[in-house]
Amino acid sequence: MRDRTSFIRSDLAHLEAYTSHSGGESPAIVDRLDTNESPLDLPADIKSKLAWIYQQEIEANRYPDGSHTELKNVIAEYSTESAGLADGLTGNCISVGNGSDELIRSILIATCLGGEGSILVATPTFSMYGILAKTLGIPVVTVSRNETDFALDLTAAQQAIEQTENPPIRVVFMVHPNSPTGNNLIEKELDWLRSLPDNVLVVIDEAYFEFSQTSVIGELAQRQNWVVLRTFSKAFRLAAHRVGYAIANPELIQVLEKVRLPYNLPSFSQIAAKLVLQQRQLLLPLVQEIIEERKRVYSALQKNSHIQVWRSDANFVYLRLKNISDDSQDEILAQIAASLKTEGTLIRHTGGGIRISIGTPEENNRTLERLEKRISLTTIDN
Ligand SMILES: *Cc1c(COP(=O)(O)O)cnc(C)c1O
Repeated sequence: MRDRTSFIRSDLAHLEAYTSHSGGESPAIVDRLDTNESPLDLPADIKSKLAWIYQQEIEANRYPDGSHTELKNVIAEYSTESAGLADGLTGNCISVGNGSDELIRSILIATCLGGEGSILVATPTFSMYGILAKTLGIPVVTVSRNETDFALDLTAAQQAIEQTENPPIRVVFMVHPNSPTGNNLIEKELDWLRSLPDNVLVVIDEAYFEFSQTSVIGELAQRQNWVVLRTFSKAFRLAAHRVGYAIANPELIQVLEKVRLPYNLPSFSQIAAKLVLQQRQLLLPLVQEIIEERKRVYSALQKNSHIQVWRSDANFVYLRLKNISDDSQDEILAQIAASLKTEGTLIRHTGGGIRISIGTPEENNRTLERLEKRISLTTIDN
């Protein structure tokens, strides 16, 4: 058959699209613990308020506010408050994206496109950095993490910075705490990031900040080559609305603003993000409950002699099976994830392990029960 897409860039043929749950699975799926969303929807009165604002204030025929001015100001205020900063951040330190995924792409466009740079990632980590880089033809350099605490291999990372040419590394992507492994950046990793030259941009993705309560934004004033990413998709329960933001010095923010689409964030998403920030006293207490549940799930998993589970500072836990070779580990974990799916539980098999989002107590109990049953069958089989 004739190739009907011969006009497409040849390197895209080998690229796999990001797969996530579609949201349209059969009703038999009850426990969606694979994408680290909040287990609870917005409270009904906040949803009503949102609907009311939509009816009263949004003209559907008009383009959204392309400057995001009000939203940026509220984000700046929240970020200042949450980090206990003395010097307040202002709206010109913020850029808003259609999810932080859009900001990751803007960063790549602004730094590496056209053969100007490569990126550095430490795996296992959030897969979108690599996926988005490849869609733009940007080379991805990968270093590993040690398997005790998932700190990155600093010797390899430094070597990569010094030795990567044609094109050199222009961006380092770090998640704080990392997904899927749940570990915060530790001091020696931060020291290494601080030591990087000015012509390397350091991206610190704090998607799970509300759970970890650790942030580097207090350092941004001294670090002109750092940018922090955050999102409304996790603790703020707005995954459906796709809102993320970047915090950095105003010069860098201006560049991100230059490369984004003019009306990248629908009006409804802008009002939703503003509203949840205004209502944060009501919404954020759930974070503490999820942390308590995470501790409970962690202890339960730790008691299982077949499971190795890691400490997590986020809203998920990461595990692998003990006493199983790396070769068969992935195959067995894939079977376990597939088997739980048939029972109605979604978990994520990624980076050589399994990542389980923390849900409601009922969801967590069901998932633990199904997982432990499946693992005992598997280990007996072997
Ligand atoms: C969930 C997540 C995001 C959020 O992406 P959005 O596009 O804002 O939904 C970004 N980075 C990491 C590491 C994540 O886990």
